[in-house]
This record gives sequence, C-alpha cells and structure tokens, in this order.
Amino acid sequence: MRPGIFTAAPERNRLPREEPPLCYTGRRLAVVFSDGSPSATLQFDSPAIPHMLPRIYEQTPADLISWCAAQQLPAYRAGQIQQQIYSTRTNSFAEMTNLPATLRELLAQHFSLLPSEIVAHQIAKDRTEKLLLQLHDGSLVECVLMRDDDRRTICISTQVGCGMGCVFCASGLLGLKRNLTTGEILEQVLRLDRLLPPGEKLTNVVVMGMGEPLANLKNLLPALDRLTAADGLALGARRITVSTVGLPDKIRELARTGQQFNLAVSLHAPEAELRTKLVPVNKNIGIEAVLEAADDYFQITGRRVSYEYVLLGSINDLPEHARQLGHLLKSRIAHVNLIPMNGVQELPFAEPSAPRTHEFVAILESFGVPVTVRKRKGADIDAACGQLRMKREQQNLVTL
Ligand code: SAH
Repeated sequence: MRPGIFTAAPERNRLPREEPPLCYTGRRLAVVFSDGSPSATLQFDSPAIPHMLPRIYEQTPADLISWCAAQQLPAYRAGQIQQQIYSTRTNSFAEMTNLPATLRELLAQHFSLLPSEIVAHQIAKDRTEKLLLQLHDGSLVECVLMRDDDRRTICISTQVGCGMGCVFCASGLLGLKRNLTTGEILEQVLRLDRLLPPGEKLTNVVVMGMGEPLANLKNLLPALDRLTAADGLALGARRITVSTVGLPDKIRELARTGQQFNLAVSLHAPEAELRTKLVPVNKNIGIEAVLEAADDYFQITGRRVSYEYVLLGSINDLPEHARQLGHLLKSRIAHVNLIPMNGVQELPFAEPSAPRTHEFVAILESFGVPVTVRKRKGADIDAACGQLRMKREQQNLVTL
C-alpha cells in the first residue's frame, strides 16, 4: 500500500467492510468502507510514514529495473541499489552515499529499508545474539545470530506463531497469527547481518525459527532467492537449511526449485502413535508419507536429509526408541540431529539425562546411522524458538 493515496481521493480507495482499519505505530489510518459507512478521521503526516512503504528488497530485480525506468533512471542504477542493500550494511537510504543524493531521496520517498522496531536485543555469554522485532501490526518476530569458529549462522522465522502445535515448542503455544511477508523474512537477515563487524560475513542460514517454513513457501522462496542470488547475499544454497515438521507436497515443491537447499525433517518419534502425541499434524500425514517425501527430496536434489529429534526425558529417549529409529533410517542416506529439550517454562518436559543421550547415540551408530548431538547455543537468553516472544506477549497481557 502506498502512503498518501487515501488523502488524495478517498472515493477511489474504498475497501470491503471486512477489512479492519489499519493501524501503524500508534497512528490511526482510517479508511472509507465500500458499504458507505463513515470513515474516522484520516491522520497521517506528509511525507509518507516510512513504516507504510514497501521494503525495497520486496521488489524483484526486474521490479527494480522497471521502477528505475519509471523514474527515468538508467537500468544500471537497479544493480547499484541492490549492491547497497546487500553489501554495505547501511541502515538508511541517506547512508548510501555511493548513490546520488537525488536517488537516495527518491528511494526514501518510495521504499523503506529496515522499518521494524528492535524491541529486544539479547547477547548471550557465548555471543549468540537474539533480536525481537516488532512489525507494523504489533506482531513480534524472533531471529538469532550464532557464532561457531568461522561460522556465522543465523536462524530466521517464517510465521508469527505457529499452527503445527508441537507439544514441546514455545512458538505454537499462542497458535498461528499470520505468515511473514518476503520482506519481513529478509529484514531479519539484513538486521542480523548488520550485527556483524566489518570483515565478518554470514556463512549459514537455518530456517528454524518461529513457524512452519513450508506452510509459507510462497513467501519464503523469493526470500531464499535473494539470499542465493549473485546480486543478493550470494550464499550457496548448500549453506541454507529449511526445517520442516514434514509437509510432503511442499517438500517435493522445495526439491523442484532445482536448488540444493538442505532439508531437515523434524521427526521426534520413531513410530506414528508417539509422533502424533508430540507432533499433532502427524495424525493426518503419517510417518511413512513424510519419509517417502524426504526420500524423494534426496532423489531429486542429491542432498542427504537430516532428521531432527528432540530428546524429551523418558518420553522418546528410551533405548527402544533409538532401536526403532535405527531400523527406520539404516537403509536411508540420512543424518540424525539429536536436540536435547530446551526447557520452556510453560511446558512440562524434562531434559534427557547425559547417559541416556549417550546410549541413544551409541544405538543409532550401531545401525550405521550418522548422528550428532546439537550444541546448546544461547542457553541464557531464552534460545528455544518462540520463548522470547512468548515472554513479551505475556508481559503485554499483564500491562493491557
Ligand atoms: N516448524 C519447523 C521449524 C521450526 S522449529 C520444524 O518443525 O522443523 C525448529 C526445530 O526446533 C524443530 O526441530 C523443533 O521441533 C525444535 N524445537 C522446538 N521447540 C524446541 C524445544 N523446546 N527444545 C528443543 N528443540 C525444539
């Protein structure tokens, strides 16, 4: 939506009655409803409120070239603009001093760069950093930067909340609010990239934050395209991991992009009954369908699939579970990522004991299944996905 258009000709901007009035950072934007009911007062400043402008990186490269043409700018300016967005870590158009001042002003009139608000920035003892971003509609989104030797890995969210309802996960406790847009997904990447000092680069992206990425594939794919594009962040697809609860059709759709993304499937149980208890969407999908889709992913892309398995003390961490998992995966080109349960205050699950974890690993290895135990990052900053947002939402509930 472009700012200012409502003031110019309200008659042309009638919205269906069911559209709620829009509200941006405390300013009320009233609309004229199409059934003719009166609008409230229209209040916003001129020039445009930056929050309401589209994020510039929501434009495809072709869109940017068209925009340049419409502004009577040479096409090469589009490339220069991309370069400024992805390579200079500037925080405003005004700082893009390699561009002419008139172009910088024009950009600021038409687009926003980093419009969300950082409402929390936590830094853990191991230098893991977590941002809580507030979007124009008040939605809260978490994203994380992790440091490991030379690796700089970020973890990004694709939805506000989550609709999958995994019983041990904080993200789903409040249900799904909405999908993030492509620009909202990319803003997390750009924000985290800007936390790095000069000379350090993002090396890996894991799409393992809040939400189910494959339930928002239509907005995620254009974002991944910008991450891998030579005129974007130029990250190899093999450095990007998409984690899913296991939506078979969408797994195949991801495979058909022709990109070599890593796929991580959150399995969490070796048989259907237990999996349905832990991952309720399994009821309508079934373990077999998930594994078949993952096998297809390997066939199409040649990429080894990872299976994530959260170890919940005395629930899915028994030797019997490890043996069942070993049988399930021994003939597959697979890798198991064991994740010790990250405690969530509201949830009644215990972390697995160290001896149990070791035994689980040993049994899987006896089946020839490669396995790693995920290192805990940022344990002192509510690192489990959705935890920080959950805390904020609770505070909001108290203060309202
Ligand atoms: N919806 C996707 C991606 C988001 S969750 C998925 O299900 O894969 C990313 C991973 O973190 C998933 O494997 C998820 O099961 C796991 N996870 C969620 N809550 C956790 C917790 N409290 N402790 C450990 N891992 C958790």
